Amino acid sequence: MAETTENGILIRDVNTQNIMTKSTLPVGGYSVNPYVGCTHGCKYCYASFMKRFTGHTEPWGAFLDIKHWPPIQNPRKYAGQRVVIGSVTDGYLPQEARFQNTRRLLEQLRHSGAEILICTKSDLVVRDIDLLRQMEKVTVSWSIDTLDESFQADMDKAVSIRRRLEAMKQVYDAGIRTVCFIAPVFPGITDFEAIFHRVKDQCDLVWLENLNLRGGFKQDILNYIREKYPHLVPLYDAIYRKKDRSYFRSLEEQAARLAADNDCPFVDNELPYGRAKPGHPVIVDYFYHEEVRGSENSGRRNHPIP
Ligand code: SF4
Repeated sequence: MAETTENGILIRDVNTQNIMTKSTLPVGGYSVNPYVGCTHGCKYCYASFMKRFTGHTEPWGAFLDIKHWPPIQNPRKYAGQRVVIGSVTDGYLPQEARFQNTRRLLEQLRHSGAEILICTKSDLVVRDIDLLRQMEKVTVSWSIDTLDESFQADMDKAVSIRRRLEAMKQVYDAGIRTVCFIAPVFPGITDFEAIFHRVKDQCDLVWLENLNLRGGFKQDILNYIREKYPHLVPLYDAIYRKKDRSYFRSLEEQAARLAADNDCPFVDNELPYGRAKPGHPVIVDYFYHEEVRGSENSGRRNHPIP
């Protein structure tokens, strides 16, 4: 299999027999990852645990395997099933412009009747609006946890917030269901009300999820807070060392008020597939959902908990 290094990223080809991975979760469904690895390299990446299974020694974000798979034989098999594209990668990494694995996948699933959820931090998805419009049930979700471009640049190597917001608008205006996934909500940093007001006319759903700190990146994030936001150290200590949930409980109350003030439904789980009244997205409260019932059960996460 070919192996090259481009812009410091090791790129290689890998074969896989079946691109569709059946979820082991009770709600069923499938997840599809057209690549192995994720060059967005988010500091808080829950998916970085994947590295253990890839045989890679490079840091998370510094390698990408390009999957090759035989065409999906019977796409109707997935009719009515939730299919998440990008559970441990982003289907619209910059390399997708060249390799087009996600576009190939969408072409194969176009008439499947599956309910497709695309999770991204990119604007490359606008390239595929033509295909998305041909699909029965498709949703595109952008992760946006700040309007502050410098904080974004500290956290990930994906495109700017401005570009994500523009892409969301284009996709929404094309008649495709969109989500603003406000996640992870960083205590004291993420202003979800400001994000809500910025996106409410261009999305159907607003999902809210807390920052979860576990695994190897926990200390990295706490070090970052100490360096850049020292006034927040006591808050992070309370939440992530002493397990005090009161901060996020207060955010839940704030979200409920925001929903009421703006005539938006406020729910703690997803509603059946449908479009929201323009300007009144459904706000979904996933704060600490993973502790209550396993947030990955919804199939909405692109960062399953290890
Ligand atoms: S958090 Fe998501 S977008 Fe970021 S590196 Fe991980 S898989 Fe990629």
